[in-house]
Amino acid sequence: MKSRRIDLHTHSSYSDGTSTPAEVVRRAHERRVEILALSDHDSVSGFEEALAAAVPLGLRVLCGVEINTRDGDNLHILGYGIDPSSEKLRLGLEDFRSRRAQRVRKIVERLGGLGLDVSWEDVQGASRQSLGRPHVADVLLRKGIVRSRKEAFERYLARGKPGYVAPMGPSVEDAIGAIRDAGGWSSLAHPGAIEDGDRLRGWVDRGLAGIETYYPAHTRETVRRLLDLARTHRLLPTGGSDYHGPGTGRDSIGGIEVDEELYGRLISRLG
Ligand code: AMP
Ligand code: ZN
Ligand code: FE
Ligand code: FE
Repeated sequence: MKSRRIDLHTHSSYSDGTSTPAEVVRRAHERRVEILALSDHDSVSGFEEALAAAVPLGLRVLCGVEINTRDGDNLHILGYGIDPSSEKLRLGLEDFRSRRAQRVRKIVERLGGLGLDVSWEDVQGASRQSLGRPHVADVLLRKGIVRSRKEAFERYLARGKPGYVAPMGPSVEDAIGAIRDAGGWSSLAHPGAIEDGDRLRGWVDRGLAGIETYYPAHTRETVRRLLDLARTHRLLPTGGSDYHGPGTGRDSIGGIEVDEELYGRLISRLG
């Protein structure tokens, strides 16, 4: 079957990626991606740079966003079709980012309490815009306390570990609302662990329109299950690599292929 390559989930240095938006675009183009979305955490500010880099290459790049919610450690909402110049969205994202910074401050305090030499000053300037746990991980890495972001999460930053602080972002419903207010629609990010149930039904009732079905960590079985959930709840299957750039352990961009039929549905929804 003829397949099309897309990547609707990527991060740049405007949040916790290590590539500039232009580098994200260049790498996606090298991998023959046909539609790319930049979906930084709680930021749309990298989109202009991505667009400027994509136009001469003839690559189609869209403005996306990934909003981290407080309703679960890994409960993230992707937004597509949004107007990056929406004033209301800008204010909403600014608020979410300041809550991220507050959380990072608390994490740093906890790590200090464990006797680790990590300060707010070490982390503060690590992102162009949106701070998160990966930036704390990078400081631990730089100081030789861990050898990778992954190890930093496993030893200190993941839920249940001594540096963990619960997320302080919006609820899922408020994230969906913020995206809708900017003219966009939402897809549930990396839902591999989601079972059918009341929660998903409730989010669909609040406007959830997509579900990220194609994702590097999803097995064939998971993809099948998510396609079933998509049919049941009339959600559009989306897909992306969650590219974060060199040195992050999540650096393969564009490995997502969809068939012509889904590609057509995505094109018409993505605008
Ligand atoms: P935060 O936004 O502060 O909650 O941090 C979540 C981000 O951390 C995710 O978007 C990933 O970029 C990254 N992350 C989560 N778990 C891991 C892990 N085990 N190894 C490396 N990065 C991770
Ligand atoms: Zn991330
Ligand atoms: Fe995510
Ligand atoms: Fe992501």
